[in-house]
Amino acid sequence: MSPTCYKYEASGLTPLPHKATSDMLDSLRITCPFCGERFEALVDASSGEADYVEDCPVCCRPIEMHLRTGADGEVEGLDTDRDE
Ligand SMILES: [Zn+2]
Repeated sequence: MSPTCYKYEASGLTPLPHKATSDMLDSLRITCPFCGERFEALVDASSGEADYVEDCPVCCRPIEMHLRTGADGEVEGLDTDRDE
């Protein structure tokens, strides 16, 4: 499967929305494990901890995300790893 970074431009989404659309969404600053660029990722903590893959908006490579949440549903952190 090839990266599909173009979707960010095609959808008109900005990587750094300044208006919060939902209390469930948090933005966390993470570092891409491939290219080392820092960017903000939006996470949805409403369903608790989650593992998923998101393409880096800079280098388009798939980053493995591990969302950690606390007992009260708050975001504790977002770990990133290479999808190997
Ligand atoms: Zn990257």
